[in-house]
Amino acid sequence: MDKSFVEDGSIADYQQLMHEIYDLPGDRNFSMSDILAQQQRFTMRALKGIRKGDLRRLRLNLLDAFSWSMTVVNRMHFNIEEILWRRFPYLCSYCGACPCVCKIQKPSHRLEPPINESKRPPTLRDFQKMFSEIYPGSGRTLADAGVHWAEETGEMSEAIHAYIHEHRPEQLKNIAAEMADFVSCTFGVANSAGIDVAKGLAELFYKNCLACHHLPCTCPVEYINKFDFEKLPEFAPVQEQTAIQ
Ligand SMILES: [Zn+2]
Ligand SMILES: [Zn+2]
Repeated sequence: MDKSFVEDGSIADYQQLMHEIYDLPGDRNFSMSDILAQQQRFTMRALKGIRKGDLRRLRLNLLDAFSWSMTVVNRMHFNIEEILWRRFPYLCSYCGACPCVCKIQKPSHRLEPPINESKRPPTLRDFQKMFSEIYPGSGRTLADAGVHWAEETGEMSEAIHAYIHEHRPEQLKNIAAEMADFVSCTFGVANSAGIDVAKGLAELFYKNCLACHHLPCTCPVEYINKFDFEKLPEFAPVQEQTAIQ
């Protein structure tokens, strides 16, 4: 049966969809470092979209970077919606306010913001709205949002590589925190650029893999390594292949 992301789906629905489409080929063909390299590649391509003022390039690559980050989350067996909500419970993770007052108060350490379950956003789109309220776009330029997103991409990778080498429980916790920060900044860039992430994901993932449209994905690794939205007039599917399961 074909699978898709619907615009009013939750972050948990999205994570589950990415698991069903990409974890089988991902587990077989990619190391964690390979996955991070892909996630970073698309993040950087999105940033190029900011520099060039090319919204299409920014949008598509941001969505793809987000989907690669779900492969990281799935590889770590994290529940990203839960992690994101605990770190950003409709409040800034550092100053504990909504909207954030970090620029004025400059908190020296992170306050553990109190969690009010009744405020938890039910859908992915509601999470994006929550981030626009905690961190209004008027407080930064799109370029600043992009720089912060790049920073978080690096910190996430650093946290994962630290854990891969030492396997300490606190390092595992740090990965979760960095993943939440990466996702928060993904929504931050989207909010600054006026990108509706839920709509974009529904357009890309209307039928299984965004490129081959198979479930699970059967895109050849060499195709993935060269995948570039700018070279595709449409999301041209690769040649039909038989999935080996
Ligand atoms: Zn703050
Ligand atoms: Zn595919």
